[in-house]
Amino acid sequence: SSSFSRLGNYVKQTYPIYIANKPVTASTNYLNVIDKFTNKHVSTIPFANKDMINKAIEKSVECAAPMSKLTSFHRKLVLLQIAEKILKRQEEFAEAIVVEVGKPLADARAEVGRAIDTFTVAAEESVRHYGETAQLDISHRNAGFQSISKRFPVGPISMIAPFNFPLNLCAHKVAPAIAAGCPFVLKPSDRTPISAALLGDILAQTDLPEGAFSIFPTELQDAPILSRDERFKLVSFTGSPAVGWKIKEDAGRKKVVLELGGIAACIVDKTIDESKLNHIVSRILFGAFYSQGQSCISVQRVYIHQDHYARVKQLLIDGVKPLNQRRGDPMNPNTFLGPMITENDAVRLEKWVSSAVTDGAKLLFGGKRDGSIFDLTILENPPKHSDVSCKEVFGPVFYIEPFTDFKEVVERVNSTEYGLQAGVFTNDINKAYYAFNNIEVGAVVINDIPSVRVDSQAYGGIKGSGLGREGIRNTIEEYTELKLMILKDI
Ligand code: NAD
Repeated sequence: SSSFSRLGNYVKQTYPIYIANKPVTASTNYLNVIDKFTNKHVSTIPFANKDMINKAIEKSVECAAPMSKLTSFHRKLVLLQIAEKILKRQEEFAEAIVVEVGKPLADARAEVGRAIDTFTVAAEESVRHYGETAQLDISHRNAGFQSISKRFPVGPISMIAPFNFPLNLCAHKVAPAIAAGCPFVLKPSDRTPISAALLGDILAQTDLPEGAFSIFPTELQDAPILSRDERFKLVSFTGSPAVGWKIKEDAGRKKVVLELGGIAACIVDKTIDESKLNHIVSRILFGAFYSQGQSCISVQRVYIHQDHYARVKQLLIDGVKPLNQRRGDPMNPNTFLGPMITENDAVRLEKWVSSAVTDGAKLLFGGKRDGSIFDLTILENPPKHSDVSCKEVFGPVFYIEPFTDFKEVVERVNSTEYGLQAGVFTNDINKAYYAFNNIEVGAVVINDIPSVRVDSQAYGGIKGSGLGREGIRNTIEEYTELKLMILKDI
């Protein structure tokens, strides 16, 4: 709009990293942060070198005991303070996310709101660590036995985060660690270190014990220290499947939580009322294209029942046009389509789409690249072996296919090596149950897109999509070990 002027009020030229709760500004090497839309260098931040990484791990080991001794109400207060401080600085965070990811301002603001929720829910959960008592007199040999159980923090946690939600995906690791009583070392993506540095500034203002947290990017060759070092008791990774499964191999005896990618599918069943199709189409377009499709649960495949196929296809084509025009500077509140994280990713999408078309897919909309901006793109019937069918696109590209038989289409949903979330629009409770029972994913979303994540829900994938669950309560469980006290009545 004409009233738009690029803000850039908040992003600073330098940011510190945090080693054992303290800001550090000097290192042997530095990371240049690039504005993903202007391609200009905006900020400089230190890389932690090997000595600094080692110090951070050492301090986190020393802090395991003091951290585990914090009372529940103390952890709750710290988490509430963090939520409040993010709220006070929400525009600063949003702007940093726009600049470092290239994500449109509306999406960036939504991410900040979600991070506030994440810390708030963690504050609530921090005072709800329940164990159980069990009668153990299961035979005459065990007469008189019972147990009580309690969860104990695992100890120092290594955390590795991706670029696409640089604040909230860090929050999903940091907040439960504080709630569980675990010190941690967090490595944000080297493409997006600013949000994590701002979070570090806020954590440094709390009274967490020394060594409770370190936050820094590393050079790529030093990153494996975080998965390999035996002093960590758990490694929590969110990112690509290739890196994630490698990290599990490297992790030794540590517990491992992996939140990886997917090829999320959505089904539009024949029982859906015609009057709902407009709404469904707008949800699909949002789920496929928000944040340029750079979400692990963005819609990549849409299976539409034959009875609705022609209508939904037309509505999708009509709906995408105005969205595709709202392209450009992600700092403009009206922008819907911003740049990909790198131009290479846009080039990759261009290749994947054009080779799918060469192999027989029909291009319904888009397919062109302008620098690092890639068109919102819709394909129809790509061949099964094409990249867009069997690899995670992680960009604004999805395809549609018709179906007639519900059970058969569930098999198609299951036909990839991934399983994060799926969406099913249906009016038939039996189909909803069938989908729930048979789709191989961490969550089946009935009557919405697969791309919804509520920050308190159990979240994660099966098959190639990961291991373990996030979502605050579930993460606290991952970050703690169950211990029993077994009692005998003598
Ligand atoms: P990526 O795997 O390239 O990087 C993730 C992190 O791992 C970064 O911090 C990176 O620096 C680090 N890293 C890279 N090599 C490493 C190594 N050898 N040892 C230790 N760390 C290493 O992923 P990305 O491009 O930042 O993010 C996109 C991917 O993340 C997509 O596949 C997406 O689906 C996935 N993702 C999953 C979820 C989820 O919750 N399931 C959420 C967001 C993104």
